[in-house]
Amino acid sequence: MNSRRTITLFSIICVAIFAALIVWPRSATTQQEQAPQEKQQTPTIDEYQPKSTLVITEHKIERAKFPFIDIHSHHWNPTPEEVERLVKEMDTINLRVMVNLSGGTGEELKKTVAVMKGRYPDRFVVFANMSYDDLNTPGFGKRVAARLEQDVRNGAQGLKIFKNFGMDLKYAGGERVHVDDPEFDAVFEKCAELKIPVLIHVAEPSAFFDPWDYHNERWQELKEFPGRARPPARYPPFETLMTERNHLFAKHPKTNFIAAHLGFHGNDLERLGKLFDSYANVYVDIAAVLAELGRQPYSAHDFLVKYQDRVLMGKDIYEVNEYKWYFRALETRDEYFEYYRKRHAFWRIYGFQVPDEVLKKVYYKNALKLVPGIDAKAFPE
Ligand SMILES: [Zn+2]
Repeated sequence: MNSRRTITLFSIICVAIFAALIVWPRSATTQQEQAPQEKQQTPTIDEYQPKSTLVITEHKIERAKFPFIDIHSHHWNPTPEEVERLVKEMDTINLRVMVNLSGGTGEELKKTVAVMKGRYPDRFVVFANMSYDDLNTPGFGKRVAARLEQDVRNGAQGLKIFKNFGMDLKYAGGERVHVDDPEFDAVFEKCAELKIPVLIHVAEPSAFFDPWDYHNERWQELKEFPGRARPPARYPPFETLMTERNHLFAKHPKTNFIAAHLGFHGNDLERLGKLFDSYANVYVDIAAVLAELGRQPYSAHDFLVKYQDRVLMGKDIYEVNEYKWYFRALETRDEYFEYYRKRHAFWRIYGFQVPDEVLKKVYYKNALKLVPGIDAKAFPE
């Protein structure tokens, strides 16, 4: 018993020494070699900023190939100084006409028209907005239509409807104003009569309606701006808003609608194509959704060629130095370049270069067709 135990103990010690001799030196070297990596922790999504090693010809375009119209810009109560600066900046990038969607209504609109168009009648367009102050007083829709008519007499050339319409805008009783609410029929009919377009923002990117989890494509934007989330407890589902919106388009076939931000179908161009096929009065802008097109360059190219009469150039938040991404995406075949706003897209984008005829339509011809009163002579044939 005793001797057997001694032998077993001896063998265990021998094996242990043998193993130590073999493994120790190896693990020591491996540890040494791996030390720099192992000391690092896994970076957070904000910390990880890989630099691309791709070497490829780049075409950084500072100025659009043709003069263009930005159908989607916002300038609230601009000062004369701001307008002067804008025109100077616009000239540097070939931005011929800027559409200010934030004109307001009544006196505010008059002032915005005066400060922008009063100085540069050919360089600016101002859209009116609805006031909801008297939403709960009977006859609201007809009053808005009348106010809009007056705004157009005062220089407005279109109506912009902001995103609270259909989501946060509610009647005094708490009921949400639906996008296709009949109360507003008079307003949309008035737009047809006045031959002015309605640029309408309905819903938000569909990811904002999805759970804010590690699978959400807009996780980072929702972290930065939690208020942009559209949880089901407080908001109708994305699809409900789409249904209401499409019903609105169907109800007013003589009214031209420009659905802002590719109608939030930039991630499903086939669906957007079907929308165009169903409603001849529907157009879209590409404002702030360039990354959607830039991540699917082949599809984006074919889509723009097929629906070249329905898509308009727009930027949304004004920053003169950010337009160049639009030029580069639309005019070149550059590959895998960084986008300007990480919260919209943590992916890189690709140019989808469209033919000049298509480019001219997106840049200005479609806007000239829809927005009354822009001097076409400032643009090439
Ligand atoms: Zn906007």
